[in-house]
Amino acid sequence: MRAFPPYRAQVVTGIPITTREQRAQALADAGYNAFNLRANMVTIDLLTDSGTGAVSTGQESAAAAGDRSYAGSDSFFRFRQAITDLTSFPHVFPAHQGRAAERVLFASLLKPGQISLSNTHFDTTRANIELLGCTARDLPCAQAADLDSHEPFKGNIDIAELERTLAGPDADQIGMVLMTITNNGGGGQPVSMANLTAVSEICRRQGVPLILDAARFAENAWLVTQRESGYAGSSPREVAEAAFGLVDGCVASLKKDGIAPMGAFIGLRDTELARRCEMNLIATEGFRTYGGMSAHDLERTAVGIGEVLDPNYLAARAAEASRLAQQANDAGVDIVQPAGVHALYLNAGRLLSHLPPSRFPGHALACELYLRGGIRCAELGSLYLGEFDDDNELVTAAPFELVRIALPRRVYGQAHYDYVADVLADIAKDSERVPGYRVLEAPQLLRHFNLRLAQV
Ligand SMILES: *Cc1c(COP(=O)(O)O)cnc(C)c1O
Repeated sequence: MRAFPPYRAQVVTGIPITTREQRAQALADAGYNAFNLRANMVTIDLLTDSGTGAVSTGQESAAAAGDRSYAGSDSFFRFRQAITDLTSFPHVFPAHQGRAAERVLFASLLKPGQISLSNTHFDTTRANIELLGCTARDLPCAQAADLDSHEPFKGNIDIAELERTLAGPDADQIGMVLMTITNNGGGGQPVSMANLTAVSEICRRQGVPLILDAARFAENAWLVTQRESGYAGSSPREVAEAAFGLVDGCVASLKKDGIAPMGAFIGLRDTELARRCEMNLIATEGFRTYGGMSAHDLERTAVGIGEVLDPNYLAARAAEASRLAQQANDAGVDIVQPAGVHALYLNAGRLLSHLPPSRFPGHALACELYLRGGIRCAELGSLYLGEFDDDNELVTAAPFELVRIALPRRVYGQAHYDYVADVLADIAKDSERVPGYRVLEAPQLLRHFNLRLAQV
C-alpha cells in the first residue's frame, strides 16, 4: 500500500496564479533575487521548510488556551514536559528561534579562540560561533562529497578525522563537538546512530561537550528506522530519545520538526552551564519560562513535537520526497542521492553544464523555475558559498552548484509536486537555453539575502 498523509485539510489558503509576463517583471524588479520577491507573486513556495508547516487543529486549540503569564505560565510547563519526555534533559529553556538558542548556548559555553567541530555547521550556527571569536570547522564524512553515491548516512562526521583533530595540536582549543541532524548544510543527509554513538564515546573520553543541532530530530530518526540495521523495529520516537540520550545538550529550532511558525529550545544536563545560559537568556531573549516565545507558540510546539513523530506522517512525507526525486530523475535532472526528507538538492551544475560557475548555474535554474512555473527555491552554490572580488566577480567557486527545493510540512499535496516535476521536465528539455547571471551588487555580510543580479 502507498503511504498517504494522516490528516485532511479543514482550512485552506489560496495561492497566487500569475502570468509569465507578471513573473518576469516581478523577478526583474527583485534584482533576480528570490528573497526580494513578494510572496503574493509566488505560486509554489519551496524556499524553506522553516516556519512554513501547516498547523493542526490540535495545535491551534492548545494555542487558544495559551497562558500568557510572564512568569510560571502553564504553557511553559506543558512545553517543558513535552521536551523532557523526548530528551530527558533536566534543564530546558525556550528561545524564539534556533539562532537565538545558538547565541545563548555558545556564548555560555565557548571562550574566544576556541574551535567547534561538526559534521557540518548550519550557516547561522557558524555565524554565531564566529561572532564569539571562535572557529567552526566542518569534518563531513568522505562519502558526502560524492553527490551520486547512495550511501545511506552521508550526514555522518568523519570519525577518523575527529579523533585525529582531538589528538592533534589544537586539542586544547576544542570547545565543543556539534552534530547537526539531519545535516542541512550537507544535502539534508542523515546521521546514523552508530556514528552518533561513536562521537559520544570519543567526546566523553576526551571530556569535550557534545551538542546536537536537532532541528530535524524526527526526520533523522525516521531515516534511521529505514536505513540503519538494527533499527527497523524501533519507532521514530525511540530513536530520537536514544539520540538525545547520547549528548550533553542540544539546540533545536522548532520551526522545522516542531511544525510551528516560531520557537526553539536549549536542552542541557550540566547545572552550572544551565545557570549561565539562564542569565544570558533573561538578558537577551526573555524570562526563563518564555524565552522570547509567545504562549501560543509554546503550546503549538509542545503539540507539534508529538505530531511530527507519528510514523504515518513521516512515512508519507518521506514518500512525497522520494516520488519527487524519482520524477526529477526521470526528467533527466540529477539530485543529491539518496533523497532525504526535508528537501531535494538538484545538481544544477550538471543540468546547466553550458554555464560556468561564474554564471551561477544553481541560481539560473532557481530563476528558471520561477519564470516558468512561479516556483520559488534557493540556490546553494557559488552565489551562496563562493568567494568574490571587489568587482563582484567570482574568484573561488563552491564545490557544487545546487538548488534546494525545500518541502514545507503538511502544506502541498501530490498534485502540486507533480506540477513542480512538470516544470522541471520542461526546463530539462531545452536546458541549454537557460541564461546565466552576473552580480551587480553584493554586500559583504549575509550576501545571498541582499544580492542584485542581471541576466547575461
Ligand atoms: C534552521 C536551522 C537553524 C536555525 O534555526 P532558526 O529557527 O531558523 O533560527 C539551525 N540549525 C539548523 C540545522 C537549521 O536547519
